[in-house]
Amino acid sequence: MAYQTVSPATGQLIKTFPGISDAELEATLARAHTCYETDWRHRPVSERARIVSRAAARLRERAEEYAQYVTLEMGKLINEARGEVALSADILDYYAQHAENYLKTEVLEDARGCVVETRPLGVIFAVEPWNFPYYQLARVAGPQLMVGNVVVVKHASNVPQCALAFERLFDDDDVPAGLYSNVFANFDQVARVIDDQRVRGVTVTGSERAGATVAERAGRALKKSVMELGGSDPFIVLEDAPLEPTLDNAIWGRMNNTGQSCVAAKRFIVVGKERGAAFLSGLVKRMGALKAGDPVELSTSLGPVSSESAMNHLLEQIEEAKGAGARVALGGHRVDRPGFYVEPTVLTDIDPHNPIYTQELFGPVACFYVVDNEEEAIKLANATPFGLGGSVFTADLVRGRRIADQLESGMAFVNHPTWTAPNLPFGGVKNSGYGRELSEIGFGEFVNRRLVSISPAGSPAPSVTQAG
Ligand code: NAP
Repeated sequence: MAYQTVSPATGQLIKTFPGISDAELEATLARAHTCYETDWRHRPVSERARIVSRAAARLRERAEEYAQYVTLEMGKLINEARGEVALSADILDYYAQHAENYLKTEVLEDARGCVVETRPLGVIFAVEPWNFPYYQLARVAGPQLMVGNVVVVKHASNVPQCALAFERLFDDDDVPAGLYSNVFANFDQVARVIDDQRVRGVTVTGSERAGATVAERAGRALKKSVMELGGSDPFIVLEDAPLEPTLDNAIWGRMNNTGQSCVAAKRFIVVGKERGAAFLSGLVKRMGALKAGDPVELSTSLGPVSSESAMNHLLEQIEEAKGAGARVALGGHRVDRPGFYVEPTVLTDIDPHNPIYTQELFGPVACFYVVDNEEEAIKLANATPFGLGGSVFTADLVRGRRIADQLESGMAFVNHPTWTAPNLPFGGVKNSGYGRELSEIGFGEFVNRRLVSISPAGSPAPSVTQAG
């Protein structure tokens, strides 16, 4: 695959970037390793925080330039791109501010002289997707750099300008060489980086396919890994949920980032026929009102999907779903204009034999179901190989919590679509992966929690009955 900027709004190839040579990759790993061993891990937390929060400040200063790269390369609506830039800066700042607390040594009260320290691991290798080109990088860089690790990133091949722009946030005379490195690596080189002894952890955000390939390799090399993979989040609507605000949340949940979010609300499950009919009609009306256009224009409400192959894959999934009996309540086709636009689409009548019953639809396509009761809603919500997020909408918070508790997912929300914030742990179960990013949990994924035990001089030798 080539590292290229292709405008999803026009289909035009804008720029191609050369892949990294084996020699330069080796030099990058050597720099990263030296940076970790001789410099970064030894710097006081306050010094790490100064550099990470300066990167956040720089991102805010150049917010418009950075947002434009996102819109150019993967077609995000410009206002959403601005929001992503702000969120990414907030993430960097959050970990700069909270690391000191997360890194505090824990005294084991019930074991005299024993403490647990949190130490960094070394070079962490990240393989990242294009859908939130800065947020995905900030999610790794903020916590990992503050832990004392250093980071090498292979970003998605369709967002090279975003990848280079993020790397520039750390380009300064007082930043040690190798602290944060972007590599335009191919898959063979990715495999070699994973095997390399200088790399101590691997994190992937992407598809199940990429996750399984990298996790297998990391497992063979006995490296810790974190997998943030796909999702098909349920959005359950109970009979008592107020219709209009629930529909507002549904549209945000499904259409944010043109539907290309791992935690998008992909399956709408409404309890009760009457409420189902009202909800479907509102969903179709709102999705049908979205206007395709240039994503840099504020009047545009439907952007392109990220690439021609993403568009073709989505259209194939829709065709297959139709062939297996699904009904198209809205859309279903490519938009008749240049670029990679798919009509906002709503599919109904999806039975368990339909391939899309268990697939992830990564774009502006909603699957709609009506069920008779709460139990059926929970059963359908969990009838997926994925387990990322899920949400329940109801006026009854106790009932909402009870249903949320039964979702097989890493995140559950009542009266809010699944979302992310710097301080919330993010990740899933089942085929959505393992491990977490963000919050203290994500901060602790690539650390050495090291026991130190100090006994008085002259302590007696352990007795033979003590396990060793
Ligand atoms: P993808 O094809 O898996 O790409 C993601 C990254 O993995 C890219 O950098 C890609 O490189 C790389 N990659 C793919 N196959 C690889 C292999 N065999 N070896 C090494 N690297 C490999 O994912 P996508 O389809 O573009 O992105 C969407 C997917 O990511 C969806 O399933 C979505 O749900 C998931 N996602 C999950 C989260 C989460 O936090 N759970 C967040 C966002 C997205 P190239 O670009 O060079 O192919």
